[in-house]
Amino acid sequence: MNIRSYRSHIENLDKKHLWHPFTQMKEWSEESPLIITDGRGSFLKDIYGKWYIDGVSSLWVTVHGHRKKEIDDAIKGQIDRISHSTLLGLTHPPAAELAGVLAKIAPAGLSKVFYSDNGSTSVEIGLKMAYQYWQHKGIKSKTKFVSLNNAYHGDTIGAVSVGGIDLFHNIFSPLLFKSYKIPSPYCYHCELGKKYPSCRLFCLKEAEKIIKKHKREIAALIIEPLMQGAGGMIASPPGYLKGIKKICASYDILMIADEVATGFGRTGKMFACEHEDVSPDILCLAKGITGGYLPLAATIATEKIYSSFLGNYSELKTFFHGHTYTGNQLACAAAIANLNVFKKEKTLQKLVRKTELLKKELQKMSVFKHVGDIRQKGFMVGIELVKDKKTGGPYPLEDKIGWRVCYAAREKGLIIRPLGNVIVLMPPLTISLQELKSLTRITAEAIKDITE
Ligand SMILES: *Cc1c(COP(=O)(O)O)cnc(C)c1O
Repeated sequence: MNIRSYRSHIENLDKKHLWHPFTQMKEWSEESPLIITDGRGSFLKDIYGKWYIDGVSSLWVTVHGHRKKEIDDAIKGQIDRISHSTLLGLTHPPAAELAGVLAKIAPAGLSKVFYSDNGSTSVEIGLKMAYQYWQHKGIKSKTKFVSLNNAYHGDTIGAVSVGGIDLFHNIFSPLLFKSYKIPSPYCYHCELGKKYPSCRLFCLKEAEKIIKKHKREIAALIIEPLMQGAGGMIASPPGYLKGIKKICASYDILMIADEVATGFGRTGKMFACEHEDVSPDILCLAKGITGGYLPLAATIATEKIYSSFLGNYSELKTFFHGHTYTGNQLACAAAIANLNVFKKEKTLQKLVRKTELLKKELQKMSVFKHVGDIRQKGFMVGIELVKDKKTGGPYPLEDKIGWRVCYAAREKGLIIRPLGNVIVLMPPLTISLQELKSLTRITAEAIKDITE
């Protein structure tokens, strides 16, 4: 088959049988899809052989680039032994070794690793653990959760229940359990009408008010530390995370840190919680854990939570939860290799210069006529486009401004994906300075071309 007929063969099958995530399939069926066949380093190759910078790390997962030799080899090596055996009633070296490494690098006190296979399930597990912890403690009234407006914790029903993005979540509201919402620390459009820094983190006071009122019912608070990702790359002001931790501690509620997006170096440290020296009671990890190779997630709990589940079998304190592919060998082997590369290549030290370059390049865009706000934590970036820069007035949804900018970038060899009117940049941590410059140059050109 020549390349053109192979391409249309794939496109036909896709359009006939594939239902894509977060995609209006009517629009999809009217467009010609980009078909990716290969990857290397920070680049993706399409079916015609054209290369693109992977500007969002293949949806926030790629850490050390594509075709990383150490990770490729680890998976191949594991395949030659076994690809999967269960953790229900058995164990295996990759799961045990990875648990040891995770416990060592996680914030202090987190030592018990429970595996699953995606970010949403890592959150479900965190919620269920927190709830069951209080049941075992005999405090039966603690059955509710607190989460933030604009929060995103995944797409399963429990994760959506603690979500706060109306656009995605409203339709499902009859299916959800109730959770209390506290304000999003979204300084650019403060929902409390304050200005940072003169507000002196008024949003924390508001959070405390709500939590204090319902403390008897609240099992845990769940938060994306430092950066609310899918909600629009909303960066919290310094001190916010520490303030939240303090409130949780004073009202005796557990803190669940959802580092599915921020974990594994994305914000410049291994985990975002480290920036404010915060140790949550439960930590949720996924996306970057295998370096972007295979689906794996981990929910890590403290000894205090874990030990409340211990008892005789008949006491029924067991955590009755598990997924078929829990702790899959190939995925664990990939994760161990990924974490070894962090050490071997000093990935995080090398990120400092790149983050500074990124910051400098982003600053140049802040003067653009329709760039309202630029938010950056390490290698997580959101560029918010606004129709009216003076008032921060948004582009209407139907303008699809974010998408138009991303399509313009694609023409120039960069693959990025917006969140509404926010342009997201989240390159692999191993991107070179030169590649990073191309990424920001193309982004700037695309924004100018479309908005000016
Ligand atoms: C992506 C994401 C999730 C969900 O992870 P999936 O693997 O897509 O289920 C949960 N929390 C945060 C913060 C995320 O960014």
